[in-house]
Amino acid sequence: MAKSGETCTFCGRSSRDVNILINGISGAICDDCVQQAYEIVQEQMPAHRSSFGLNQKELPKPEDIKAFLDQYVIGQDDAKRYLSVSVYNHYKRLLQKVTTDDVEIEKSNIIMVGATGTGKTLLARTIAKLLKVPFSIVDATVLTEAGYVGEDIESILTRLLQAADYDVGAAQRGIVFIDEIDKIARKSDNPSITRDVSGEGVQQGLLKLLEGSIVNVPPQGGRKHPEQKMIAVDTKNILFICGGAFDGIEKKIAQRLNTRVVGYAASKESTLVDRNNLLQYITPTDLKSFGLIPEIIGRLPILTYLNPLDRPTLRSILTEPRNSIIKQYVKLFEMDGIKLTFDEGVFEFIVDKALEFKLGARGLRSIVEAIMMEAMYSMPSQNKKTLHVTPAYAQDKFDKSDRNRLLIA
Ligand code: ADP
Repeated sequence: MAKSGETCTFCGRSSRDVNILINGISGAICDDCVQQAYEIVQEQMPAHRSSFGLNQKELPKPEDIKAFLDQYVIGQDDAKRYLSVSVYNHYKRLLQKVTTDDVEIEKSNIIMVGATGTGKTLLARTIAKLLKVPFSIVDATVLTEAGYVGEDIESILTRLLQAADYDVGAAQRGIVFIDEIDKIARKSDNPSITRDVSGEGVQQGLLKLLEGSIVNVPPQGGRKHPEQKMIAVDTKNILFICGGAFDGIEKKIAQRLNTRVVGYAASKESTLVDRNNLLQYITPTDLKSFGLIPEIIGRLPILTYLNPLDRPTLRSILTEPRNSIIKQYVKLFEMDGIKLTFDEGVFEFIVDKALEFKLGARGLRSIVEAIMMEAMYSMPSQNKKTLHVTPAYAQDKFDKSDRNRLLIA
């Protein structure tokens, strides 16, 4: 804040006549001028938007995209490859020139199936960091048919518009990640005679978006109402990536695999089925048995899966990603001038507990939190400058923590 007597370098008013005066090295600016400057920047924005402008030479190649994902996400190679290729092809499609050869590259939306906590959202978020187009993540669980409590399908595009700073052109080339797509599956065994408001109707609505059509989007989201001005968005070039856990789909896959064995191909291949990871055999038919309508499946031609997280993967997740949980705690302590180190055995202990409590990767953080809580509370006011965590220390703090809370983590 300015001392009295100082003036805004832009409008010349003194600090007494303005609300806020912000001082720079050799000048000052008042709140009104900040506001005006912001508006000018907004107006000039299209020229700035080169970050959304694509250039064939600068495009990251699929291998580059995967290498980037590798820094943050452990394993899941198949899903990473599919994602990398899809995003790259999306860019190429946007760059395609109108030609006379009638070959028009169509978009290939993706669907990723994997148990909860195996990295679907993390993949989506990581890819967002490197994208050259607007990107948004939406949750399918909030969607309902128009007229029911919940959000209209169009709200999916509201987020994308926001990510593109309401630049419709940029939003029309963006990517949307729809999480929990399995939650809008048709509940065929639902005996209720009431309408399946969050199931098939929503899928029909979603279909319009996936197919490519002009959709009227409420700019602020929420429900459409007559007073709100709509923005027309063409979804033809928007890439949709869907993710879902599809709990129980393994049973459908197993059933199909068994029928095939009995049917015609009781070959050597069928004896090699890895029963611990049935998702790798998923086909569009299984999605249909689960309750996605065939039209939606047809619009999500790329189907990929995530592996369950085994012990070595959980162990790697703890320390290897660029912003791994352990690296984050080391940094937290470093900010208090404390050097935090761990015995290798501590990591094994943490993974053991995550497996014991069936918490998966999400539980790793809660377990580390339980172990570190006491030190995080007391050390900032002490003079000790190092903390070395041993398995015995970890066990002790973990036992003293409120472990019941972990079960609902
Ligand atoms: P999903 O969307 O599949 O339910 P998330 O992507 O939200 O799961 O994963 C939950 C958390 O678990 C992430 O924030 C991340 O810390 C961790 N995690 C899960 N899978 C991985 C992985 N393959 N590599 C690194 N971290 C992971």
